[in-house]
Amino acid sequence: MNKHLFAALFLSAAPAIAQQSISTLPPSVVTDPRIAALRDNALVNDHYAWDITEGLTTEVGQRLAATEAEARAREWAVRRLTAIGFANVHVEPFTMPVWTRGAESAEIVSPFPQKLVVAALGYSGSTGPGGVTGQIAYFPSVDALRVAPESAVRDKIVFIDHNMMPAQDGSGYGQFGAPRRQGPTIASLKGALAIVIRSIGTDHHRNPHTGVQYFTDGAKPIPAGALTVPDAEQLVRILKRGQPVTMHLTLVSQKAEGGHSGNVIAEVPGRDPKAPILLVGGHLDSWDQGTGAIDDASGVAVVTAAAKHIMDAGRPARTIRVVWFGAEEPGGFGGEAYAKTHGTEHYAIAGESDFGADRVWRFSTQLMKTDPALYEELTAALAPLGITKNDEGDADGTDVGPTIKAGAPWVSLNQDGTRYFDYHHTPDDTLDKIDPVQLRQNVAAWTTMLAILSGGIEPGPKQPKRR
Ligand code: ZN
Ligand code: ZN
Repeated sequence: MNKHLFAALFLSAAPAIAQQSISTLPPSVVTDPRIAALRDNALVNDHYAWDITEGLTTEVGQRLAATEAEARAREWAVRRLTAIGFANVHVEPFTMPVWTRGAESAEIVSPFPQKLVVAALGYSGSTGPGGVTGQIAYFPSVDALRVAPESAVRDKIVFIDHNMMPAQDGSGYGQFGAPRRQGPTIASLKGALAIVIRSIGTDHHRNPHTGVQYFTDGAKPIPAGALTVPDAEQLVRILKRGQPVTMHLTLVSQKAEGGHSGNVIAEVPGRDPKAPILLVGGHLDSWDQGTGAIDDASGVAVVTAAAKHIMDAGRPARTIRVVWFGAEEPGGFGGEAYAKTHGTEHYAIAGESDFGADRVWRFSTQLMKTDPALYEELTAALAPLGITKNDEGDADGTDVGPTIKAGAPWVSLNQDGTRYFDYHHTPDDTLDKIDPVQLRQNVAAWTTMLAILSGGIEPGPKQPKRR
């Protein structure tokens, strides 16, 4: 922006803002200065979130659900949470099927022989080490596949294209995720040999985006992979030449029952053990190609850092429970296991951070209906962080979802998702994608939310007492 234009805009907007804050905001929504101080301190000084994200991604790396790597991550989590002063740190184990990736490659055999870059989707069937060869059957969308006759699909390698665009609220994921979530089952039921989709991503790098899918409705598992966006576009250009296109596809993967995962739980104990709990979380597991920095080391780090800031300030009336959920990626196993054990406990709020580490830009909560005064208090306290309220918001989150379904009130602090799907579920989900300044803004937002809902923080025993 031109410097003079910026100055003009700023000067013309400033009196209006000042006037509004004086005349229209009732005194009840002036933020408690102690809460404002906690918020502003986290925004400038937080280092806990970066330390956790950097430590987990460096010392453990990828944390594929129910594997030995995820087990090491749980041990790391217990050590770290204990070291920074949390109480009741423990693991709650559960069992689940474990899926692991093997060799994977794709190449056009004819008419223009060349290699493409592919990654298997979660729970993909295996081609075996020799791979499979078949003719490509092209579909512009999952709906086109759904209405196609079996004869167009049988014994072929289905390819589903689409065109996902970036969006601040990440809304494309629901719509454009359908080829990944439903495509493999539909293709299998129509007798396809295998399926490849255009990655559910908004970048143009040669990084395939993996992610989970399930074979439902009695569909037998077939090999299912995602081509990178540039490779999918290349395949479209080849198909447009009008000749039959043959692909050789190798996706070797394994699925076994009886894998072990678990949730890591830690608490800041409240002064009133009977008061409803503040539940915050993220997921400890990740996909296996990157180091799971934005998905979701930063998420567990943000909520943990926020709880730590409350702990540093004293004792909240309500217990803050931090959960590092296991096995979210292959289907929310940790969230289900948690709700089975703890779903009927009494919660003041439940929320999770699982949408990267870019700044929080808006929030919504069930409190807008049940406690409008508290909602206004949250709105006023979050506004200086550039966060606006969203009256249209709804509960979201795979991990706390089952607990919310069981009755817990929800809160959502939404990160800006404009670049999230450039890296999501790719080898490029690494620490360097995290902006420390925006990460601290996340921590400040969660600290503010916890402080307001804490029921009041009293100086703890470690604080020097005044005479
Ligand atoms: Zn996630
Ligand atoms: Zn994910």
